Parts: sequence; structure tokens; C-alpha cells
Amino acid sequence: MGSVRGNETNLSLKKRKRGGVEICLLDIFMRFKKVYIEITNICNLNCKFCIGHNRAKESLDFSDFKMVLRKIKPYTNYLYFHLMGEPLLHPLINEFIDYASKDFKINITTNGYFIDRIKNNKNIRQINISLQAYDGRKLDYLDNILTSVENLLLAGTIVNYRVWNNYEGVQELIGKLEKFYNTKLNGNTKIKDNVYIDFATEFIWPDINNNYYNKNGSCLALKDHIGILVDGTVVPCCLDYNGSLALGNIYKESLEDIMKSENVKRMLEGFQNKCKIKEICCHCNFYDRIAMKKARDNNEG
Ligand code: SF4
Ligand code: SF4
Repeated sequence: MGSVRGNETNLSLKKRKRGGVEICLLDIFMRFKKVYIEITNICNLNCKFCIGHNRAKESLDFSDFKMVLRKIKPYTNYLYFHLMGEPLLHPLINEFIDYASKDFKINITTNGYFIDRIKNNKNIRQINISLQAYDGRKLDYLDNILTSVENLLLAGTIVNYRVWNNYEGVQELIGKLEKFYNTKLNGNTKIKDNVYIDFATEFIWPDINNNYYNKNGSCLALKDHIGILVDGTVVPCCLDYNGSLALGNIYKESLEDIMKSENVKRMLEGFQNKCKIKEICCHCNFYDRIAMKKARDNNEG
């Protein structure tokens, strides 16, 4: 669900010749645009579109958080507090942001309900607020989000509202936003300096029991990003809610060892050849959705 404004370098599995010897770029240069960290897998809401997870409910403590940061520091500049759970529920959210911001650019994806807790934090690069979290049933929390956002903007934080345009109540929500910002919202747009809105349709959670199946296709996972669940499980993407694509555990192994595993190489090679080698990836339409959104944006632009 991540939306990034400002990118870094990519991990690549391309092979090159150096001095007549074929080398894998993975061995010499491994960087991700972003790493998702699940600082808690607990959420205050129960959105009807959310698939949930069946893992034990837990939150990262400060010492484990520091260990994770130490291990991923050479591999990215951009941290996203995101995956399952609501990051602003974490009691140490401001301490985590402040500590991590010494070495990383901090991005947060939130349902916005507890935005008060971070509205005075000056160390957040971007906040993505998923306004569909209330599914159109309640809108009273929106006023609090809108005023807190004004505070965050003073610190230079980029604000990105996310709205799914196919849920009940969306027109009422858009009406409130239009009134507050005194503008018409037609499609993905910059509302004002550092405030954006992204419209999208609901996506299909990867699940071997869903009706979507496509073996052919690519994914940005493992090249562009990886995720780390609260128990240290390294996963390829932010949609791996149960860790079914577990690649290793950051508490027990180095990220380099995890990324050099046969499992990772096979997945990457598969994606490069437009072939999904994991069954659950065949039941995931995320990449198709990105491609469709790009095409739509190009047409609108
Ligand atoms: S806010 Fe996010 S994690 Fe929480 S129930 Fe809704 S979709 Fe799931
Ligand atoms: S295709 Fe697989 S790795 Fe990519 S987002 Fe879907 S589940 Fe994750």
C-alpha cells in the first residue's frame, strides 16, 4: 500500500562480467527503496476489508527495534512503519520515530485515528493516511486528522491521503475534504504544498483461497522493498500478513545471508522472468493493480 515520493537505488540480481568472472550484483550492492517495519501487529480497528492475521499479538520493544535498525542500516534510507497493525498505537511511537530518524527517513502508514499522538513530531518525512479505514461509517474522526495534518505540515512532513473510491460513504468523505481544502478533488492530485490525495480501488489480499489466479507476472518485492514482521520474520512485501513467504528471521541471521538464500534468488529470478514461483503470489493482484493505476494516471495526465 506504500506510495513513495523520492526514491533510492534498487537491489538487482543482474549478472555482470568483471575480469572475465561473472558476478552477481547482489554480492556487491544491495539497497532497497524502502523497508517496511511492523512495530506492532495490533490494531484498534476491525475494517471489513482487512484480512487480519493469525499471529500472536505483539509489539516491538525498544531494544529489538534498535537491533533491527542496526541490521538494516546498510540497506536502505527509507523506513516505513507499516504492514499489519496500527503503528500509532505503539506506546513508544514518538521515541521510535526520533531514534530512527537519526539514520533513516521515517514514513508512516496509519488509519489516522491516533494522529494526535504524533502531530507535534518533527521527524516524519511522510505520513500516509488511509481514510478508507472507517469504510464510510463514521466521519467524526476526520476533523481531528485535518487539524493535526496542519501541525505536521509546519514540520515539513508530506501528507498523503488514501481513499478507495469504491466504498460506501466515499462521496461524503470527499465532500468534507473538498470543503476543508476549498478545492475540487478529481482524481489523484496535489491538494496544496505537501498534501496529496491518492484514489484507488480496493485490492485483493493474497490468499490461496481467493478467486484470483495468475501465474505470470512480476512484483517489486525483493527489488524495491522487503518487510520485517514484529517477531523478526523477514517477508518480501507488505501484503504478507501471516508471514507465509517467510525468508528468514532478522534476529537470528544477517539480512545479507537472508537475501542470498536460494529461496530469495528463485523468487527474484521468477519475477524477472514474469513468473511467480510461490503459490500465494499467483493469488495476488497487487502488481496488476499498480500497472492499471499507472495506465489510468497516464491517461488522466
Ligand atoms: S486499520 Fe489497517 S490493520 Fe487496522 S483493521 Fe483496518 S486495514 Fe486492518
Ligand atoms: S506477488 Fe507475492 S511478493 Fe508480490 S506483493 Fe503479492 S504476495 Fe507479495
